[in-house]
Amino acid sequence: MLISIVVPCFNEEEIIGRFHARVTTELERLEAETGTEFELVYVDDGSHDRTLPLLQEMADRDPRSRTRYVSFSRNFGKEAAMLAGLRHAAGDAVVVMDADLQHPPELLRRMLELHGEGFDQVVARRTRTGDRVTRTLAARAYYRLINRLVDVELVDGVGDFRLLSRRAVDAVLELTEYNRFSKGLFAWVGFPTTTLAYENAARERGRSKWSFRKLLNYGLDGLLSFNDRPLRAALHLGLLLVALAAAYAAWIVGAALVKGVDTPGYVTLLVTVTALAGVQMVMLGVVGEYVGRIYYEVKRRPHFLVKATNAAVPKQQHGELVRR
Ligand code: UDP
Ligand code: MG
Repeated sequence: MLISIVVPCFNEEEIIGRFHARVTTELERLEAETGTEFELVYVDDGSHDRTLPLLQEMADRDPRSRTRYVSFSRNFGKEAAMLAGLRHAAGDAVVVMDADLQHPPELLRRMLELHGEGFDQVVARRTRTGDRVTRTLAARAYYRLINRLVDVELVDGVGDFRLLSRRAVDAVLELTEYNRFSKGLFAWVGFPTTTLAYENAARERGRSKWSFRKLLNYGLDGLLSFNDRPLRAALHLGLLLVALAAAYAAWIVGAALVKGVDTPGYVTLLVTVTALAGVQMVMLGVVGEYVGRIYYEVKRRPHFLVKATNAAVPKQQHGELVRR
């Protein structure tokens, strides 16, 4: 059995060496005990620092050439990096891991055990100890909201640290959409899944690439890429407003008939006009988001471009087999 470890790396020069050492130690121990062989697939997501030369050095120094790297022409984002890693992974099982050692390599053993028990996805679920309170609360509120809205089930604390069986990986690779929201894609794929709790380690070196704005946009992506319910909600809101307007009109006409015509206030008029304009903008925004997504999808641009690699050409690209 071969297990592939996929590691997206963006400006990780400070920690990538230590990550490699720790993961290799753990996997060699496992190999000695259980005979599970491994390969490491690093994806350099257009780093501006020394990440790529370090990866190349690690690959050159690997006596059994189990270290592969794929380097992007620029930063395409973690989703693209994971996709590239999954495409290049040859393993019977694949584990996606962050390069910053926030995902403890010691968990690999238990993940493999659970995979051996027949689970196609073994998902590591982090506890939120050590996180800032604001982020914990925001995350909790977000998951409550999103699970009411989307069709797949998303779990708080579950990230991209997970083991996927070969058939789960192949299923994920079949999903060729341009806007990738992996949490949702993994959940969409299904197959027997189990979770495994772990204590989140604080990032030791380097900086998290997530700002509040990025998180917010990521959250919106999650909402929008998994269903068309916001469109339906916009429609409902529109209908509700039409009903309210009709009732209000009826009331005005009724009052005029009973009491004779009086002069209606301009405040009512202004408030109604601005409120309606706001609602229309929101609806237009919702529709626009979907149109924007369609725009990107129909272009069918590649998810990433490779600048340098020591890995073979992957089996699949854009859902089609690549022929040399
Ligand atoms: N990453 C990436 N491309 C990006 C941003 C991040 O490949 O554009 C990688 C990064 O190197 C790390 C992982 O994704 O291995 C998680 O990133 P980070 O630690 O910044 O996120 P956090 O752990 O704070 O969610
Ligand atoms: Mg991190």
